[in-house]
Amino acid sequence: MNIHEFQAKQLFAQFGIPVPRGKAVKTPRAAEKWAAALDASVYVVKAQIHAGGRGKAGGVKITRERDEVPSLAQELLGKVLVTHQTGPKGRKVRRVLIEEGAGIDKELYLSVLVDRKTGCPTFIASTEGGMEIEEVAETTPEKVIREAIDPAVGFQGHNGRNLAVGLGLFALEKAVVNPFIRLLENVYRLFMEKNAALVEINPLVITTEKTLIALDGKVSFDDNGLMRHPDVQTFRDLHEEEPLEIEAGEHNLNYVKLDGDIGCMVNGAGLAMATMDVIKLAGAEPANFLDVGGGATKETVAAGFRILLKDKKVKGIFINVFGGIVRCERIAYGVIDAAKEVGITLPVVVRLQGTNAEEGRTLLTDSGLHVDVATDLWEAAQKIVAMKRNTLSPRERAGVKE
Ligand code: GDP
Ligand code: MN
Repeated sequence: MNIHEFQAKQLFAQFGIPVPRGKAVKTPRAAEKWAAALDASVYVVKAQIHAGGRGKAGGVKITRERDEVPSLAQELLGKVLVTHQTGPKGRKVRRVLIEEGAGIDKELYLSVLVDRKTGCPTFIASTEGGMEIEEVAETTPEKVIREAIDPAVGFQGHNGRNLAVGLGLFALEKAVVNPFIRLLENVYRLFMEKNAALVEINPLVITTEKTLIALDGKVSFDDNGLMRHPDVQTFRDLHEEEPLEIEAGEHNLNYVKLDGDIGCMVNGAGLAMATMDVIKLAGAEPANFLDVGGGATKETVAAGFRILLKDKKVKGIFINVFGGIVRCERIAYGVIDAAKEVGITLPVVVRLQGTNAEEGRTLLTDSGLHVDVATDLWEAAQKIVAMKRNTLSPRERAGVKE
């Protein structure tokens, strides 16, 4: 789960990580009030969306004039901001963060995440803050430094010194070395205690007063740890999430929307990944990843169907179930019930293998529904791709957008 910058900064403050004074508001009137309360020499108005790259896209406004704050807020509120992270559809700005501006001497990059290679929480830091870290890593990899933390012993003084030395902080600004190490410790504590998947501060700023301050903040959480953190759950913003993914979550389905046109319903994440690969091999693109789980029931299959059919891009449905714990005849009943209930007009291919597969196939064949039954995965994938192609108009087939 992702949260907004202003929420990340609330967590930072809670963990002793210095942030600018600020408040998120929803109206120009509230912006005006808060600017008066701030009484700063510089004001920053920042669009709050779940995406970075706002600076370059005009989503960060800076002014010395307090009177300008409400109109800058007005300009951003309700606007659809397109950054290189939002995709072409962009994201609607529903809140702006009004902050006291900081005098910037130097922008650093800092983050912590779990590194798959070492299996450890790992800090990534760079003197090239304010830019995309991916770009820095590409063009000047020597400017990206890493420090793995042994989770069994936690963050140690030497980890902090390694990072400070790696960044050249002693030469750059000696006064911030100790505050920097304390900040690292706090970032690590936040990362671990809140079951975060990523804590990123970009830029982490050395101010003209030689202090450190987190000017931007991004925190992502491990969804599997969320039930431990009711406070973090309150940060969830459904406006920022894919509506079909929200609905899937309500039925305990693991669903990720993708861009293709073959809807997939599969039990087990590994099989779901393999199914997506096979669809690609057969010459089409999956519309989604959907794992209905090892214990799929009639109800989960029906819920899965409804979600697939709500995606208007879907032109064919491929159900691929391996009966291990789940029995194939149950899945067949689920498909039959759901197909009757929601009235499917799209081509459907069902491939069943494993426990009671034979029985399941017979049920489907005898149901009178227009579903194609298959046993072989490769055959089934080719079949659904061909069936989908036949439903397309000649223009669509030629790749012309209607
Ligand atoms: P992002 O583009 O979405 O990552 O948004 P950021 O919060 O990182 O802001 C982008 C850039 O705006 C920063 O790298 C800074 O250069 C600038 N910026 C943000 N806040 C301030 C501030 O308080 N003072 C000054 N001078 N610049 C700021
Ligand atoms: Mn940033």
